[in-house]
Amino acid sequence: MIGITSYGAYIPRLRLDRMAIFQAMGWFAPAIVMVAQGERSMCNHDEDSLTMAVAAARDCLTGKDKRSIDGSYLCSTTLPFADRQNAGILKTALNLRDDIITADFTSSLRAGTTGLLTAIEVAQGGSRKNILVAATDKRETKPAYFYEMWFGDGAAAVLVGDQDVIAEFKGAYTVSYDFVDHYRGAGKSYDYMWEERWLREEGYSKFIPEAVGGLFKKIGITMDDVQKVVFPCLFKAEHKVIAKKLGATPEKVIDTMHEVCGETGAAHPLLMLVAALEQAKPGDGILLAGFGQGCDALYFKVTEQITKLAPRAGVKGSLENKKTIDNYMKFLKFRNLIHPEMGIRAEAPTQTAMTVLWRKRKMLTGLVGGKCRDCGTAQFPLMDICVNPKCNHVSTQDDCEFADVPARIKTFTGDLLAVSVDPPAIYGMVQFDGGGRFMADFTDCELADCKVGLPVKMVFRRRFTDNERGFSGYFWKAIPQPGAAAAVPEIRFDGRVAIVTGAGAGLGRTYALELAKRGAKVVVNDFGGARDGAGTGSSSPADRVVAEIRAAGGEAVANYDNVATPEGGEKIVKMAVDFFGKVDILINNAGILRDKSFLKMDPENWDAVLAVHLNGAYNVSRPAFAVMREKGYGRIVMTTSAAGLYGNFGQTNYSSAKMGLIGFMNTLKLEGAKYNIRVNTIAPVAASRLTEDVMPPDMFERMRPDFLAGIVLYLCSENCAESGDVFNAAAGFYSRAAILTGAGAVLSDGKTIPTPEEIRDHWEKINSLEGAREIGDANTAIMSFMTPPAPQADAAGAAGGGPADVKGIFAKMPEAFNAAAAAGKDVVFQFSISGPGGGDWVVAVKDGTCKVEAGKTEKPTTTIKMSDGDFIELIAGKLDGMKAYTSGRLKVEGDIMKSQLIGRLFKFGK
Ligand code: NAD
Repeated sequence: MIGITSYGAYIPRLRLDRMAIFQAMGWFAPAIVMVAQGERSMCNHDEDSLTMAVAAARDCLTGKDKRSIDGSYLCSTTLPFADRQNAGILKTALNLRDDIITADFTSSLRAGTTGLLTAIEVAQGGSRKNILVAATDKRETKPAYFYEMWFGDGAAAVLVGDQDVIAEFKGAYTVSYDFVDHYRGAGKSYDYMWEERWLREEGYSKFIPEAVGGLFKKIGITMDDVQKVVFPCLFKAEHKVIAKKLGATPEKVIDTMHEVCGETGAAHPLLMLVAALEQAKPGDGILLAGFGQGCDALYFKVTEQITKLAPRAGVKGSLENKKTIDNYMKFLKFRNLIHPEMGIRAEAPTQTAMTVLWRKRKMLTGLVGGKCRDCGTAQFPLMDICVNPKCNHVSTQDDCEFADVPARIKTFTGDLLAVSVDPPAIYGMVQFDGGGRFMADFTDCELADCKVGLPVKMVFRRRFTDNERGFSGYFWKAIPQPGAAAAVPEIRFDGRVAIVTGAGAGLGRTYALELAKRGAKVVVNDFGGARDGAGTGSSSPADRVVAEIRAAGGEAVANYDNVATPEGGEKIVKMAVDFFGKVDILINNAGILRDKSFLKMDPENWDAVLAVHLNGAYNVSRPAFAVMREKGYGRIVMTTSAAGLYGNFGQTNYSSAKMGLIGFMNTLKLEGAKYNIRVNTIAPVAASRLTEDVMPPDMFERMRPDFLAGIVLYLCSENCAESGDVFNAAAGFYSRAAILTGAGAVLSDGKTIPTPEEIRDHWEKINSLEGAREIGDANTAIMSFMTPPAPQADAAGAAGGGPADVKGIFAKMPEAFNAAAAAGKDVVFQFSISGPGGGDWVVAVKDGTCKVEAGKTEKPTTTIKMSDGDFIELIAGKLDGMKAYTSGRLKVEGDIMKSQLIGRLFKFGK
């Protein structure tokens, strides 16, 4: 079955009140008052037929797999380029496959239906299955003309295919005549219209009935088989007359949208078809006729599948999204029909380098950025290096489409000085959910609509027009969505199972209540002991919280086990699994205090605090991690404290336990990474029984524990990309805390041992945090300590004398071998060098000898992986080994420390 599989529409948001045209021009053309009712759609200053086609096509592709599209046709009489395939721009903006067919259908108002019919016939032929047809028009008329009132701007798109057909194609009939009711000469801006009577009497009322009659006869149907009749006609009365002539009762006839939109040229038959499909029921027959130098008539039968189509804007949504203006001068300026002074700034050169446009086409036309294969960070624009400072890996970027990624306003401004057709120029930073941001122009909005945090929708718009060369440049802009603020996706935990330890009171209670409110099933653990952990415990704190959750309609179960014992931890996790089937979230929160100045800190008080905080987190995390690993999902939050991060008098036990949790997190984040288990730590400050005697009363009052729930729940949420981070949070203040490592100083060549005096003399550098950075794991840290930057002199020497290809380097390796440095060493290096000049080599060093062989070995001590170019640069001393390692250009597997030997064992270029 071949037919329509999807549809979409786009009518610009702006509508011009037709009376505004009369008010401005009635003195000149009083007769236009007769047609000055209702409103017509009008493009914003940055819209044209191409941008509208992209918008309609995106609407049409809602819920569809773009990769299955084999062709894209663009139908219009007002395409921006006479010689540059416009359908090719559409295809690039939509990021369709490169191996599809693209074509422009133009020069007739019938282009839309002819494009659709051609797509159907191609699909019937079987060589291409799914073809997107977009029809669009933005026609110009001279001011104060009847047609200025009647025309509108708009676009529609349909997808033709053989899967999930919503309207089956049953047949078509076409008549083609060189009938001229109007024409637009090449290079002319406006249509030349013949008398209306000519169009009505010799055009519409002859060709439409002829084509429809031909179709009925050809496929053997009558008007009884038709429930929706779709045909545009500029004249209301004539539209009725033709419908009657065809035998269609008024309820079958689809409205021409004259009052609310105007006639959108080549797009109009398809736009009305979309309106018909929106109203259609399974089983309805749809008759579509497109007039223009003859007429195409097509018949479709609507299927059950139409009820399954994903929701979209369509004609209905487009008509609802409107802003009516009564400023006719604005209409004229937006269409470049008047030329007010734009100022010197507008004279900036606008020539587009075709080389850049070609090389950056995905980014500029398709809004494609990058996503790091290693750490999942999304970024715009795509670059060679990952922007995540903890990753910085090179050549790990995959394409990432941003057009449909939810985004928000991060910053914005209204600029009255910048050149703008519609001042103020509104622009700002747009932040995409899940990463990536860029400075964007905002459009279809007023300054008052903008708000930081407001969702935005990305749209393809004209960025500039190079009038001198006749070039339209396009890019993506952002539309703030004031109405969407309420629809901002809430962070929910439906279907998630959470364990919160120590949830009977204080912070834990807040987390448990909020998680349950947002759909999580919660195990509310609390031992119910005293503030210092003493006593045999009590079930009432946990029971109270569970009762609160249930009273609010949530799901929870109470647990009274002690986190300080491994059995307690096992039992808590078992309860989650027994009751709710899994564990997705664990908040290690339970805590006690036993403050004593250090000399009074006896082993009992030391052990008790470490047992609850540090061992407690271990006891529950271990069985929970096993479940999370199996399910491939987990979020763990540890609870540290300012006392641990920064120190606090009388809390050596507590500080140690709290800092221990950070070490615990640092390693667990690495072990959990590949199972999508993310581990972070919160350092709270809040009023609770732990702080009631420490905080002054007014501060205690302000420090409500609820301030903590937001950040802790965010860290527990699916979209939280963070892992291994520590966050302070107190009464509405939130910040990240981190361990930084300074750039340091290298005081040895590896042989001489620096003396205390040398340390003293270089103290400033050793002690400096200038250029300090965070380091993702111990290996990276150790590598950075062990690999000093290559001395410049060596680099120059090596560059002059070293071999210039990988093979040559390995051939020279025995020569470059420094036997003296190899005494007592027994190590096998496997080199895997990628790229055209690469290959595998094994270098075995034993008893002061070196053996180099091409190929692979089963059990190398250390494996070195890098690209051929990088390897050559490394050996030539042009690439710093440490930088190559930390940026991911050099990968070391196995015994990482042994890789340090390479520089000492082999000296090239000397
Ligand atoms: P809280 O005393 O109100 O809550 C802690 C809960 O843990 C109590 O209900 C207690 O019964 C429970 N608990 C204690 N030992 C347990 C055990 N062995 N097994 C199971 N449950 C046990 O205190 P809070 O302020 O809500 O503290 C929550 C966490 O936040 C603690 O880890 C604490 O160290 C940390 N913290 C709090 C602050 C603050 O300002 N409140 C500051 C830094 C860190």
